[in-house]
Amino acid sequence: MMEARGFDTLVIGTGPAGEGAAMKLAKSGQRVAVVEAHDKVGGGCTHWGTIPSKALRHSIQLLADYRRNPLFQHTRDQVEVEFPDLLRAADAVIHEQVGTRYRYYQRNRVEVIFGRARFVDPHHVEVLRPDGATDLIKASAFVIATGSRPYHPSDLAFDHPRILDSDSVLGLAHTPRSVTIYGAGVIGCEYASIFSNLHLKVNLVNTRDRLLSFLDDEITDALSYHLRQQGVIIRHNEAYEGIDAAEEGVVLSCKSGKKFKTDILLWANGRTGNTDQLGLEAIGISPNQRGQLDVNDRYQTSLPHVYAVGDVVGPPSLASASYDQGRFVGAHIAEGECDWSLVKEFPSGIYTVPEISSVGRTERELTAQRVPYEIAQAHFKSIARAQITGHTVGMLKLLFHRETLEILGIHCFGEQASEIIHIGQAIMSQKGPTNTLQYFAETTFNYPTVAEAYRVAALNGLNRLF
Ligand SMILES: Cc1cc2nc3c(=O)[nH]c(=O)nc-3n(C[C@H](O)[C@H](O)[C@H](O)COP(=O)(O)OP(=O)(O)OC[C@H]3O[C@@H](n4cnc5c(N)ncnc54)[C@H](O)[C@@H]3O)c2cc1C
Repeated sequence: MMEARGFDTLVIGTGPAGEGAAMKLAKSGQRVAVVEAHDKVGGGCTHWGTIPSKALRHSIQLLADYRRNPLFQHTRDQVEVEFPDLLRAADAVIHEQVGTRYRYYQRNRVEVIFGRARFVDPHHVEVLRPDGATDLIKASAFVIATGSRPYHPSDLAFDHPRILDSDSVLGLAHTPRSVTIYGAGVIGCEYASIFSNLHLKVNLVNTRDRLLSFLDDEITDALSYHLRQQGVIIRHNEAYEGIDAAEEGVVLSCKSGKKFKTDILLWANGRTGNTDQLGLEAIGISPNQRGQLDVNDRYQTSLPHVYAVGDVVGPPSLASASYDQGRFVGAHIAEGECDWSLVKEFPSGIYTVPEISSVGRTERELTAQRVPYEIAQAHFKSIARAQITGHTVGMLKLLFHRETLEILGIHCFGEQASEIIHIGQAIMSQKGPTNTLQYFAETTFNYPTVAEAYRVAALNGLNRLF
């Protein structure tokens, strides 16, 4: 065996999970290196997932606002935006993100090693560099943060230019006229919003009976309504039988007998953990059938010094949660203790048009748990700031205990929902009686703001009590 370079901990992958772990470990005084198979840091999050899709969505929102604004009615139809224009705007953000993230590693003296990592035994990893050279790294602990990629069923021809996934859609060099999106999870719904606002015909084919069933029903009803208003055709309870791509279009055939013909098909149905090239067989770890790693509540695999975090361990598969899982294991490795609340409570943000965000329990969960809750709600259409900006579609809904006034869940849709949610989250995460709806009724908010919706909702909720 060649001579190995030694580190306290080696992190594999520079997405949010790997970065969170590396930063925490470095700040705790460890000697840390990260290995990255791509030629830039940032992970799938920066290059193929969160950042490009959110940058696309932002451009789409600007375009929709512009088209709707009465000030620009006379020039509205002169503006032509093509999908590749949006991709260029997203590229600029990716570039900035890579620079920022790379500086974090430099500043914290974390060595970045470019190449593909593969275990050769429980304490050694071989890194295959892009130029064909190999490095051998020895470490006391390892953090696998290799993320996930779109799942590809073996009967689909992903090499056909009309069949795309959430990675390859970022290489689309023209604006199609129509798209079928198979899979109506978060990624499918977000791309349905992006494409419908670019005026494509969109079929959103859902394998389940409603959209995003982990959310509050009222919020998903609103999402379905607004997607349909934007022209999206939603089909529930479908399963694909075959997908045929030809020169003039692609046809999705469903088991129900329905067929959808469009210019492109975006496959958004499932993801696979990136574990197949990690040499896990050399250390006796077997991924599950989704390529994900099983871990205990401290994110340790069956080898206690080999941790796994982020998308590679499965849900919630969020950049936000992945980063905190990384910090959590960083603390566990370096200090032997960690903040459990970091990985237990997290909000969800869904960047459809309208945007959605929620934290805490839904009405369905509270009803099943027989918690006596009440609803406090405010509609954006009656909030002055929303009237000024024209973003009147939306609602803030707080679920609270009707006896203690404890806030139990917050659900919001509308412009900036994923920002607005954090105001309520800050109060909801307080311990004991300081988590109370009363806070919002008795606090002065700037006027006009959308945050004022919390006061309006609180008064609405308190008025329901008897
Ligand atoms: C279209 C889309 C939109 C999304 N939107 C959001 C959102 O709005 N908000 C949100 O919170 N989350 C969002 N997500 C999810 C989010 O991107 C992921 O949860 C997050 O990227 C997971 O982080 P990670 O660090 O686990 O993995 P990744 O970010 O995927 O990073 C893993 C890294 O490991 C590297 N790697 C893999 N194998 C090896 C190896 N053997 N050796 C060395 N390096 C290796 C990869 O090259 C990659 O750079 C979205 C995902 C997608 C696909």
